[in-house]
Amino acid sequence: MSSKTKVAGEIIKDWVSLDLYSKYNYKTACEDCTHFDFENETCTFGFPTTPHLKKNQINDLAMTGKMAFCRAMEID
Ligand code: SF4
Repeated sequence: MSSKTKVAGEIIKDWVSLDLYSKYNYKTACEDCTHFDFENETCTFGFPTTPHLKKNQINDLAMTGKMAFCRAMEID
């Protein structure tokens, strides 16, 4: 099974360089997205935000070397 194979109900996560992520402070989280409601930590599209919250992305990256990117993210 390739690392990109999706199991039902599982979100795909991509490999990320922790060094580069830390160095360049990439905008990858819901908190960086125009569709994020900070008050309720929800998405205006109704997508689940948990995998894309900054604290969870950083935790995933530290634990697995991967993180989940939202393909609908928009930055103003
Ligand atoms: S579009 Fe994606 S990144 Fe933006 S708030 Fe919704 S779930 Fe988060």
